[in-house]
Amino acid sequence: MDVKSKLLLKKKCAWDGIKGKQEKEVFDFSSEYKKFMDASKTEREAVIFIENMSLKHGFKRINSASKNETKLIISNKGVSTALCVVNDRSFKNGFNIIVAHIDAPRLDLKPVTLYESEHMAYMKTHYYGGIKKYQWVTVPLALHGIIVKSDGKKINVCIGEEEGDPVFTVNDLLVHLAQEQVSKPASKVIEGEQLNILVGSIPYKFKSGSEAVKTGILEFLNKKYGINEEDLVSAELQVVPAGKARDIGFDRSFIGGYGQDDRVCAYTALRAIFDAGKCKQNLLALFLDKEEVGSTGTGGADSNLLIRVASQIMEKYKDSNFSSVIRAVENSRLVSADVTAGIDPEWKSVIEPMNGAKMGYGTTITKCGGSRGKYDSNDASAEFTASIRSAFAKDGVKWQAAELGKVDVGGGGTVSRFFVYFGLEAIDCGPALLSMHSPFEVASKVDIYHTYKAYRAFFRHC
Ligand code: MN
Ligand code: MN
Repeated sequence: MDVKSKLLLKKKCAWDGIKGKQEKEVFDFSSEYKKFMDASKTEREAVIFIENMSLKHGFKRINSASKNETKLIISNKGVSTALCVVNDRSFKNGFNIIVAHIDAPRLDLKPVTLYESEHMAYMKTHYYGGIKKYQWVTVPLALHGIIVKSDGKKINVCIGEEEGDPVFTVNDLLVHLAQEQVSKPASKVIEGEQLNILVGSIPYKFKSGSEAVKTGILEFLNKKYGINEEDLVSAELQVVPAGKARDIGFDRSFIGGYGQDDRVCAYTALRAIFDAGKCKQNLLALFLDKEEVGSTGTGGADSNLLIRVASQIMEKYKDSNFSSVIRAVENSRLVSADVTAGIDPEWKSVIEPMNGAKMGYGTTITKCGGSRGKYDSNDASAEFTASIRSAFAKDGVKWQAAELGKVDVGGGGTVSRFFVYFGLEAIDCGPALLSMHSPFEVASKVDIYHTYKAYRAFFRHC
């Protein structure tokens, strides 16, 4: 080995040197991942997919599992969930934990949402998470979610995904009359209160009159779901891009789709816990809600969810008290599984190239996610970062080290800072995306595959 290759850190393209069988593995993995994306456009849908697949892999719901079971599902109110593989019933070393979030930016229907204007019916939305509002106009949109009637009956809604389903859309101003609009800053081109979806135009019983179109829509909703306008107040209805995830490029090396932040990490973590095999540590995968709005809520990272989950698991196998749970969590290791920004040749100036993630160069470890002086960030310890490198080397994981954006430009936080609160070690790891938070995010298939391998190596070797 020459001196250069011995001493210099060099980023390496993860496609380089891939041989027959590996190529198939990379592409097969992505085909399975696309099925997850198509079935999991909301956090509730993701929970159902994750739990159903776990049941098929021998996991049992914690309340119905016997003491002999080692693979557990710990569900949380349908909006977040956890999977655990118990390998060490002393819990002295806690858990190897991977945390991903299953919510994604979108438009939520407001509680009072339906109105009529110019003989057309619309629904008002309140956007969820960080979006560029102008990206959400003139694209086909689907409606997913639940409506709960006052008697507790829950109605599932999913319109716009099946062949032949209608879709919804937010309209934009025609360019011919948009001289004033296009001179506005991007944040004002479309404003929050303009993100209203078009939902119909036929008046009730084909007879125009006051609120006749709105009444026509309510009649449709009453026939289909048995609801009235008040029932929409107790609903979680989410407007998301319609349609399936797709391959991108002549060589199909990328995947495009909605909500890859962070369902790409949720899926790779899920597969990693299924495929980890024999491990000495206890394995825990957490799939969380509300990351995109600050990790709030009962299923968010800024809660005592980890303590609730760990205590439920430990109580199953041994006498545990508050102190033993706290100690087990403190002695744990955590990977915050989340995406980072890939270098886009059109927008290179926001990323410092030595510490920017390159598409197709493997998964990314981010020691520190903050910006402008590392504010609000977890900075992974040198010791823990070294143990991650060692685990990745054992399984041939292709990875790169990166930070999200130039120091003074901006940045993004992940949930690791909420978990280091409990005293454990944590680091961020996940693939890079292009067009993050847009209706059509882009990931590299080889990065997705190495993210899966990275999470599996963390479970096995840390
Ligand atoms: Mn994320
Ligand atoms: Mn995000």
